[in-house]
Amino acid sequence: MDVIWNLTKVCPWDCVVCSVSALHVCDTTADYVYLKQKEEGKELTLAEKLIVLKSLVDRDFSIDFSGGDPLYYNEDFRIVEQATRWLPSQKISVSMTGSNLTDAKLELLKKVGAVEFTLDNLLGTENPFRPRGYNLASMMAMKKCIAVGIKVRAITVLYQTTISQENLEDVYHWLCESAISEWELLRFYPVGRSVELSRLTPSNSEYLSTMKFLRGLHGSTKIFFQHSLRILKEGIKCPAVVESIGILPGGEVTACAWAMDDNTRPFKEFYLGKLPEDDLGEIIDRARRIPEYSERVKFCRTIAYIEKKHKKREGTI
Ligand code: SF4
Repeated sequence: MDVIWNLTKVCPWDCVVCSVSALHVCDTTADYVYLKQKEEGKELTLAEKLIVLKSLVDRDFSIDFSGGDPLYYNEDFRIVEQATRWLPSQKISVSMTGSNLTDAKLELLKKVGAVEFTLDNLLGTENPFRPRGYNLASMMAMKKCIAVGIKVRAITVLYQTTISQENLEDVYHWLCESAISEWELLRFYPVGRSVELSRLTPSNSEYLSTMKFLRGLHGSTKIFFQHSLRILKEGIKCPAVVESIGILPGGEVTACAWAMDDNTRPFKEFYLGKLPEDDLGEIIDRARRIPEYSERVKFCRTIAYIEKKHKKREGTI
């Protein structure tokens, strides 16, 4: 099974389109925010994270460490480092920001083997939903990783600002020129802080025509589409609970890593349990007996849930 584990919601950036409502920190506020998160039980302690990691390893999970920035705090660095001792590299990946990519982080990423950075647009494209410097930091970090032989996957989230053919072509050319081996396009989820930005969500037909356009691009960078985009056409099924789960910074287990509210808590209907207090095996066994998840559906449950909520709010159902 796969898990996206958001180790922390702390981040050196403050993207408007952040799906985890990340807590922006700088050098002067980082320690205070760290202590407050722990005191309020909003983020697991190092000891708790180690227990969670061990239970994931014991159940043969593949782990994508995400955040916030999962390598911002030394404690999370130690979790990822421990994962490299307990798991083969093909079972670990890290989705981080380009900020402060130190030599120690590069050494750790060499052991991890694969890293993802988000790049929604190049420097010449205005994007009010990412902070100034965010894309430059990603681009520099990707180049640094490539230079030392780390496999890099660039991520672009498709929303109204980024979905134009011109923007996507520009990004693709830069990725090819920079020897980035993989590019994954993600669906836009109006969750977390971007809950108020549902107007940015492309329609299904926009997604499909964009995928068609991207399939026509030829270059050295291999293009991938997130499963929730492929689900629109290819008849694949939602992997929630059967093949994948999410773990949030406070240890909450969610049926889908994107099914969370603006306080980074799982949507009620997607909440499965809490680690490390609950047993991971029992959480999954129990979830698979829920009728909702025992049936494999050919649509994205999180998107369907969000759309239903909007319709309820508008009074159309
Ligand atoms: S709910 Fe959507 S994003 Fe979540 S696992 Fe299912 S298809 Fe993927």
